[in-house]
Amino acid sequence: MARLDDVEFSTFMEGVRERNPHEPEFVQAVQDVAEDIFEFIKDKQAYQSAQILRRIAEPDRVVSFRVTWEDDNGEVQVNRGYRVQNNNAIGPYKGGLRFHPSVNESVLKFLAFEQTFKNALTGLPMGGGKGGANFNPKGKSDREVMRFCQSFMTELFRHIGADVDVPAGDIGVGAREIGYMFGQYKRITNHFTGVLTGKGLEYGGSMIRPEATGYGTVYFLENMLKHQGRGLEGMRAVISGSGNVATHAAEKLIHLGAKPVTLSDSGGFIHDPEGLTLEKVQWVKSHKTHRRGRISEYAEEFKGATFHPGETPWSVPCDVALPCATQNELLGADARTLVANGCIAVSEGANMPCDLEAAHYFRGAKTMFGPGKAANAGGVAVSGLEMSQNSSRRSWKEPELQLMLREIMDDIHDRCLAYGQQLGGHVDYVKGANIAGFKKVADAMLAFGVV
Ligand code: NDP
Repeated sequence: MARLDDVEFSTFMEGVRERNPHEPEFVQAVQDVAEDIFEFIKDKQAYQSAQILRRIAEPDRVVSFRVTWEDDNGEVQVNRGYRVQNNNAIGPYKGGLRFHPSVNESVLKFLAFEQTFKNALTGLPMGGGKGGANFNPKGKSDREVMRFCQSFMTELFRHIGADVDVPAGDIGVGAREIGYMFGQYKRITNHFTGVLTGKGLEYGGSMIRPEATGYGTVYFLENMLKHQGRGLEGMRAVISGSGNVATHAAEKLIHLGAKPVTLSDSGGFIHDPEGLTLEKVQWVKSHKTHRRGRISEYAEEFKGATFHPGETPWSVPCDVALPCATQNELLGADARTLVANGCIAVSEGANMPCDLEAAHYFRGAKTMFGPGKAANAGGVAVSGLEMSQNSSRRSWKEPELQLMLREIMDDIHDRCLAYGQQLGGHVDYVKGANIAGFKKVADAMLAFGVV
């Protein structure tokens, strides 16, 4: 990774570390982008003197608030809620809400920063934001989740709006939670507007929103392979996670003739050497969503599958890998194992699932490597289309939306190519995505002057 000047880069990163102490995920996300942007702006005085990167790496605002709610035993519970509004240069803030015990300011600032570039890459007018709470929905009753969501929205509502900031789902926030939060927003404000995406179809949701992230991640993978004259047919795929993104990625891989052989959750991974089928994926979706079950039970349900407690799936030999669970779940040693076992392409369904060492290794080994900000942008893209449908008070049909998702993922691939092509035909998708995303936001910020 060539840099404008190692001293200037180190000084910049030192400043980021000092201003954001104890925020390793945020520092990691900024470093990942800065490594490419320093080189890109070397001969571009306008971006340098306007301090564009420094400004994008400082959120517009971070709101943190208390969420008080009562559990089923009548006990008072207190959680911390957040909304990070990173940058709205090209459109209203947009990004998901995460409910998970690991949520803190560092995680949400990294996600909001990444989201800014991702949203720019989609070509749609959306700025970057992210939010959530350190609330653990696991083991909570429906009523407890409802009371938590209502209390969370009772503060969040004053910071969001259809033209201000439009949250969506993320880890721990699916259709159920979006429904409870939308209901509370409407009750408080008396406004029926497209203030959240990922809504149910009955009240303004879009077809294919649940599928969009996983499907888009596979389309991006297919585009990377196609660009090298290859296809997905017959490819063995290792997937982590078993939530929304992972199950829809598995489904699309099967549609396109590939063979997914693993899924995981925080308890371990399952290996099904026969390969998942559409019926098995359907079982997992229903098991995880309706029964709130664990992936370990897959091995009890389907003969030939094994469960590996406490392990990640990266040691299973494969042709392609799709990390679809969470940040920093694939480390440097895992990257080396994957490549040694024949993996030729990685498409990140999750946000920053590969740590810096793993990402550097894949880039150095010239593995096809689709970073999350490009590969998993299909979800937010369809969220953008949900916003358009809400504003125009109409709904597009599924085939139209499927086509639009496909086109958007093809365009994102092209934008990465524009800045990521290397001599000899290899494409550095990380560099391509970072520069294409940065340029769009930066040019808008230049137009606004010093603000
Ligand atoms: P879900 O809540 O539906 O599923 C998350 C999955 O990841 C579960 O299988 C969960 O297992 C597993 N997981 C979560 N934390 C950990 C952990 N610390 N270690 C191991 N496994 C873990 O979330 P999504 O599928 O929606 O999101 C997955 C990733 O994709 C996230 O990085 C998210 O930011 C990203 N993403 C999601 C989008 C969307 O549209 N939903 C859009 C773009 C990116 P368990 O049940 O044990 O917790």
